[in-house]
Amino acid sequence: MQFLSDFLEQAKACDLYRRTVTCDPVAPGHVRINGQIYLLLASNNYLGLTHHPELQQAAVKAILTYGTGSGGSRLTTGTHPLFDELEPALARFKGTEAALVFNTGYMANLGVISALAGPDDVIFSDEWNHASIIDGCRLSRAQVVIYRHADMEDLHGVLKDTACRGKRLIITDGVFSMDGDIAPLPAIAGLAEKYDALIIVDDAHATGVIGPGGQGTAAHFGIKHKIQVQIGTLSKALGAEGGFVAGSRELIDYLRNKSRSFIFSTALAPATIATALAALRKLSAEPEMVNKLCENADYVRTLLVAAHIPVLGGVTPIIPIMIGEAEAAVCLAEELHKQGIIINAIRPPTVPYGTSRLRLTVIAAHERDELCWAVETITAKIRQLGMVVR
Ligand code: PMP
Repeated sequence: MQFLSDFLEQAKACDLYRRTVTCDPVAPGHVRINGQIYLLLASNNYLGLTHHPELQQAAVKAILTYGTGSGGSRLTTGTHPLFDELEPALARFKGTEAALVFNTGYMANLGVISALAGPDDVIFSDEWNHASIIDGCRLSRAQVVIYRHADMEDLHGVLKDTACRGKRLIITDGVFSMDGDIAPLPAIAGLAEKYDALIIVDDAHATGVIGPGGQGTAAHFGIKHKIQVQIGTLSKALGAEGGFVAGSRELIDYLRNKSRSFIFSTALAPATIATALAALRKLSAEPEMVNKLCENADYVRTLLVAAHIPVLGGVTPIIPIMIGEAEAAVCLAEELHKQGIIINAIRPPTVPYGTSRLRLTVIAAHERDELCWAVETITAKIRQLGMVVR
């Protein structure tokens, strides 16, 4: 099949070829590859909970008690009693009436957006929204209007100028996954009110990360009551797997009846639900866990700025180092790999051409001395390779 090799050759020629690397996660902040231990600055395991004994024990206990798989979709035999604990716990955490768990954050975005929007509706979507939001918008068959990233003047303009027979929906990442900046939710909420639009926020990178006790972007801005649909993932800071949506009881009831990625897929395994529940309990009991994450992120930003490496402003643990061309970003990531550091080079189509970058993520489990060593190594390599970071 010629088209397969054509595609792969083209990807290789443009430094956009992707391969999977087998990493053995020996600890939250470290992986073993081919017998060597690396410092991992490329994980979304923000609170380092994946290896926490309470979560591990909850998973093991669930497997031993309930078995490994769920054996059915949620509407048939897959609604395990643990869901009856997890979903109310998520609703309490987010300060909403109810919540619904999906199998992944990706499926939550797909299922929620395509259930809420249809051909008569218009979705206003930030240009840097995650791929799963883009795919959810496409699946909905609504008209999609892209506004410039976090640009409220542009959003206002398109809201004003776009005729709409049905509903208006504004969709944004809470924390943008590749830049680490926070969506200007209060301004979005103001425009939504003016133009009678529903807001959907994807808090995949905000859950357990920003806001009091990691409650997310709406809580960060103190406007929980203004955001009708809050999506999140259990797979990043909560150290498990799965996605969720939180909102009114009626919204959740509607999605349970309408959302195809919820209806037509086998439910999460009991061990996964138990892990997420244990994580949520831990975070609710120790909301100060989030502080260590913030302090580590702040520490790395301060070190980078002191070393004259520009970093985008922000408070989140996602710290992009802007390189420009894909080839240069890949080269730098490979050089750092040789030094024992894993940082992902992010390239098109994930980010626009000319904005390839190292996406450094800090987690709460990192120690100060290893973060300091990492920044020294990164800056030395950048200088040695004669790169200009923008
Ligand atoms: N939304 C955003 C902003 C993400 O970054 C991701 C994952 N990278 C997802 C949704 C999907 O979440 P999950 O990995 O749980 O499918």
